[in-house]
Amino acid sequence: MKLSENGVVWFNGELVPWSRATVHVATHALHYATSVFEGIRAYATPRGPAIVQLRAHVRRLANSCKIVGIPLPYAEDRIAAAIVDTVRANGFDSSYIRPLAFRGYGQLGVDPRNCPVDVAVIVIEHGAHFGLEKLARGIDVGVSSYRRPAPDTLPALAKSAANYLNSQLILLEAKANGFDDGLALDVEGLLSEGSGANVFLVSRGVLHTPSLDCSALDGITRGCVLQIAADLELPAVEHRIPRDMLYVADEIFLCGTAAEVMPVRSIDRVVIGAGGLGPVTERIQRAYWGIVRGERDDPHGWLTYVR
Ligand code: PMP
Repeated sequence: MKLSENGVVWFNGELVPWSRATVHVATHALHYATSVFEGIRAYATPRGPAIVQLRAHVRRLANSCKIVGIPLPYAEDRIAAAIVDTVRANGFDSSYIRPLAFRGYGQLGVDPRNCPVDVAVIVIEHGAHFGLEKLARGIDVGVSSYRRPAPDTLPALAKSAANYLNSQLILLEAKANGFDDGLALDVEGLLSEGSGANVFLVSRGVLHTPSLDCSALDGITRGCVLQIAADLELPAVEHRIPRDMLYVADEIFLCGTAAEVMPVRSIDRVVIGAGGLGPVTERIQRAYWGIVRGERDDPHGWLTYVR
């Protein structure tokens, strides 16, 4: 995703030019991964830019802080307002929003307690993430040799920088093997998630997704998909899923703020179902796009309009 260097960043309470939103090399987070963040999107809609699931993202940021022991110096309302202000100030129709809370400049050493907490909101202009072609025909995915961290190592429910070294290893290995992305198993060998997205399988008309005890992030798009499935009266179950269910699934898709609803056409070079966008995935993809782009009703109040 390309940076929007002419834009403004919300940094510790004020909007500053992009070039002034900088930190010192002794910043604690740089050394010890004491950082939590969010990835949010605002889509162009007929009523101007709309932020998707703003409240849920801000809540998850606050929860991530709680889990990893970073005291968030602003109330959730203040962070939500800062996000709306930053989107408005940058003026992009369609954007990716990155709120970030981290331990800053104070002292070196593992103990974070004497380092202040800095908070930033970065907004960049952003259209389709994987490209429209891939959203239509699907991506090729490999099961990673890297597992997600065990639950008593790094907490998966926190969207913390520390977890993204694991994501990078999964993605780099997948790319080196010629795949678009990797899918990781948890420490028990059960299905977990992609490097930056949750996973769903469709099997005999039922949606399956790993439960949250499988070291996956509690994805907000995952929640949207479960809601859309309920709205469409498609049965959906969250449970512990063995790897082999992947290969015999009728359809598989990844979902996330950036990935949206992304069909998977092969796993480990095994073609899934008919090898493209399956009918159930297509219904969910259409419903999701329709809502986030303001083309359909927003029955669950997912959109926050910035104008
Ligand atoms: N898992 C991981 C590891 C992710 O990075 C993301 C993207 N934030 C997701 C799942 C999907 O989460 P969300 O739908 O909230 O974007």
